[in-house]
Amino acid sequence: MKQQMEFKTESKRLLDLMIHSIYTNKEIFLRELISNASDAIDKYHLLSLTDETLEKTNDYEIHIEVDKKHRKIKITDNGIGMTYDELVNNLGTIAKSGTLEFLQKIKEKSMKETDLIGQFGVGFYSSFMVSKKVQVVTKSPFSDTAYKWVSEGEESFTIEETKREERGTEITLYLRKNEDDENYDIFLETYKIKSLVKKYSDYVKYPITLENEVEKPKLDDEGKEIEGEFDKVFENETINTRTPIWNKPKSDVTDDQLNEFYKSTYYDYDNPQYTFWNNIEGALTYKSLIFIPGKAPYNLYSEKYEKGLQLYAKDVFVMDKCKELVPDYLRFVKGLVVSQDLSLNISREILQKNSQLVKIAGNLEKKILNELEKSLKNEREKYEEFFKEFGVNLKYGVYDNFGEKKESLKDLLLFKTVNQDKMVSLKEYVEAMPKEQDAIYYGSAPSKDAIKISPQMDIIKSKGYDVLVLTDEVDEFMISILHEYDKKQFKSINQGDLNILDEKEKETIKELETENKDLLETLKEILKEEVTDVKLSTRLTDSPVCLVSGEGLSFEMEKVINQMPGDKKMKADKILEINPKHELFKAIENVFLESKESLNDFASVLYHQALLIEGLPIKDPVAFSNKMIKLMIKAAKSSNTSEKDPA
Ligand code: ADP
Repeated sequence: MKQQMEFKTESKRLLDLMIHSIYTNKEIFLRELISNASDAIDKYHLLSLTDETLEKTNDYEIHIEVDKKHRKIKITDNGIGMTYDELVNNLGTIAKSGTLEFLQKIKEKSMKETDLIGQFGVGFYSSFMVSKKVQVVTKSPFSDTAYKWVSEGEESFTIEETKREERGTEITLYLRKNEDDENYDIFLETYKIKSLVKKYSDYVKYPITLENEVEKPKLDDEGKEIEGEFDKVFENETINTRTPIWNKPKSDVTDDQLNEFYKSTYYDYDNPQYTFWNNIEGALTYKSLIFIPGKAPYNLYSEKYEKGLQLYAKDVFVMDKCKELVPDYLRFVKGLVVSQDLSLNISREILQKNSQLVKIAGNLEKKILNELEKSLKNEREKYEEFFKEFGVNLKYGVYDNFGEKKESLKDLLLFKTVNQDKMVSLKEYVEAMPKEQDAIYYGSAPSKDAIKISPQMDIIKSKGYDVLVLTDEVDEFMISILHEYDKKQFKSINQGDLNILDEKEKETIKELETENKDLLETLKEILKEEVTDVKLSTRLTDSPVCLVSGEGLSFEMEKVINQMPGDKKMKADKILEINPKHELFKAIENVFLESKESLNDFASVLYHQALLIEGLPIKDPVAFSNKMIKLMIKAAKSSNTSEKDPA
């Protein structure tokens, strides 16, 4: 006898949502039904191991049939099936906490339904997104009778006894008619079914078979093909791979296979640079397969780039880019995580707070850094290739979050240096330092050569110290966060006090400063609009002048910060340093003694020279040029008079 029953309130709401859903990714219904079928087979298989009354078998199958003419899709499994009570309870109410939470969220209007369906996976009811009617025929091995459940969503469903001998469940979807902006016919195409299975359920461990209607040439009595005539026949094809590469023993998988898997899954033309495969068992059970590409994807630094790893729960695909699994500075890694503990229908909110996932992410990060460290040690060239491509990300990692990760990243950094042709790590730099050197020197410039010839290098060159060459925008910010390495402070060659002189040299400079106090004060007064200070230099030996910045912001940092959007501009302290050993200084001293007025032009030209050497723009080139000409004419005149001078 056919019974009509009402859905429970919660189910009605969910069904209503499904029926009127504008969710664009309706295709997930197939994943949900296949997962249910796979679970049902799991359940049967487990029970059959201990229950004597159940037939023991390994003959399991999830079968899909498509009937284009009647617009039906049928999904059959030989799992545990449902008794009458189970059918009423399981398909008439919502038991899943995940789905209840989903409804709660929508009720609170805190989320749009369209954002959530795919993430929660709303289970069996998702079939109503594509079907106007759903029929379930099921037989449990614990019931003599099979039952038929039918519903058109809405308010109610019917149940009646039916004929079915085999255990398991057969779900028939009666597809909706196409609408203006919705194409349901597409799900009747075998290629579509195949691609959906590939995408979502390729690694379900039971065979998923598809009954395929194919045309075969008609044969005559002698078995020869009759031209132009065809027979329609049905073929059964297994359409899932079943054993994912990560479920095979590692020893059975070749590097070539892993490379192929990487290329086809993550759309790269080249082999990955690194492949890390980990099977973890214990309190936390998961597998991870991590790849580092050979080349950075073209959009790695664009806002549209989405980092993350694919997430599988029990071999069922859950999410493509689970961003919780990788920190920002490792945004370039690709790969997947297969957790045996996560449930399939897990939402993004839940994922974020999921303690297992947080732990997995922590482990993965450690693993990746360990492997990179090993590579730096054992495969230097390969590591350098990697660093050229992705090193800047590690630098951002050091800088990020106030240096939270700097301890684990500092030994992975490599730098160009002024004296060496190869890249060096901080450890190598420090180990090679002469005994008396107590700081790590660095310079910021677009190239190594620019630093080599800069006047600020004078004293450092004379001491024979090496200098790290910083070329990336993030470098100085990173260095300021690192602050020191192996108790050695970082010192910019063109910033602040180098602290490089011995006591005697310091004494000499002090004396000179006292002697020339008036001159320095006057220069400072003349240039007060341009520089914060005028000092006698401790870093120049050959060059006459240079500009350095104060201890805080450097010129490079000033440039970077002022390029960023926003109108808060920042200025580095500019200090003009004059080389007291240079002839020019003697000349200025003389000018100062003769006439304070002519010092004006000298000071200005001096400052502009320093700007030019530093590669900084000159505000008023015409005025500068005029002053130069004035000085040249004066110099020519005075040399004329001195030539004519009989004395
Ligand atoms: P979930 O599978 O996440 O629990 P669903 O709404 O998809 O939620 O399904 C509800 C319940 O219906 C399942 O928990 C299961 O007990 C039962 N069920 C669904 N599909 C099948 C099936 N193919 N065979 C046996 N039981 C099923």
